Amino acid sequence: MAEHDVFVIAEHLEGKLSDVTFEMLGKARSIASAPGGRTVAVLLGHEIIALAEQLGAADQVLYLEDAGLRNFIPERAEQALRSLLQNEKPALTMIASTSMGMDLAAALSAALDWPLIAYCSDARLEDGKIVATSQIYGGKIAVETVSESATTLVSVLAGVFPASEGHADKPAPIQTIFGAANEGRVRFKGLTVPDAGDVDITRETLLVSVGRGIGSKDNIEIVEELANNLGASLSASRPIIDSGWLPKQRQVGKSGLTVKPKLYMAVGISGAPEHLQGMKDAELIIAINSDAGAPIFEVADYGIVGDLFDIVPALSERIAEVRAK
Ligand SMILES: Cc1cc2nc3c(=O)[nH]c(=O)nc-3n(C[C@H](O)[C@H](O)[C@H](O)COP(=O)(O)OP(=O)(O)OC[C@H]3O[C@@H](n4cnc5c(N)ncnc54)[C@H](O)[C@@H]3O)c2cc1C
Repeated sequence: MAEHDVFVIAEHLEGKLSDVTFEMLGKARSIASAPGGRTVAVLLGHEIIALAEQLGAADQVLYLEDAGLRNFIPERAEQALRSLLQNEKPALTMIASTSMGMDLAAALSAALDWPLIAYCSDARLEDGKIVATSQIYGGKIAVETVSESATTLVSVLAGVFPASEGHADKPAPIQTIFGAANEGRVRFKGLTVPDAGDVDITRETLLVSVGRGIGSKDNIEIVEELANNLGASLSASRPIIDSGWLPKQRQVGKSGLTVKPKLYMAVGISGAPEHLQGMKDAELIIAINSDAGAPIFEVADYGIVGDLFDIVPALSERIAEVRAK
């Protein structure tokens, strides 16, 4: 009985489940709360029962165990999931809108001939139909889509639901399904992890981020000095990276990295949706911008409206004084 079931395809890399898996699980539980609905986590891999045990927020875990699923190969994952989904026919299947998930969701949609609603920031069950909100044009427009199908796939943006809702103290019942993978035509050769550079901004607790308002590469040193005085690391918006002023590993946002520091100070950053996507969950956001109408102020806890070339050196000096005491 799958009429109200919500399936979540768990995503993992190098022995760790990604945050978005727990974010989807928490959301899935609220959607599947309709009578008869179950939240089912689906995990693909090899010798990763310990990960299956972490998916306790689901009512059940289906663990597709096969040596051929040891590494993520979209073709194999799609084949393994295709028959499972065909048999189970869940009302909704949630897949992360990540580089892995985007491959998988599109392939499954084509193979199963099920509709896929992509870039979703919300999904719900309404009068027996799946209604999902997609962020399109880089998040500038939100579109609500009603699926007319009894089985719908959605790809879910990372960071839109709280991961805390998807964690549980105890494991859920795990059903292990062996031999799910076919040989396929694609082989896994190796994982190339991008060089994190000298600093991994996703792990930093204090970030000072510089945007196009800085004007030139030479000016970045005043923001760097502020970061140093604060004991923070330097990150940036995309134009700074595209100009070659800082390395790619420092980019925050949709096509960069998602950060959740305790403090995020945005200097000369307008707050475009693609930037906000990568930093809006920071615990405390401080923005410095000369334009009082800049969208960054909508997410900032504290805002300073003014010229960064006046504010940043003054702030830097004051922080250095206080820290020297
Ligand atoms: C598919 C896609 C993916 C993208 N991915 C990302 C991403 O990952 N990360 C990202 O950041 N962007 C991304 N973008 C780009 C994004 O849309 C914006 O163009 C970008 O975030 C703008 O960067 P910014 O705020 O630094 O520059 P701007 O939007 O130009 O803003 C500069 C700000 O500085 C302020 N300013 C100017 N002078 C001063 C001064 N003297 N003192 C104080 N303030 C001043 C201005 O008022 C303005 O608000 C993406 C876009 C697309 C289409």
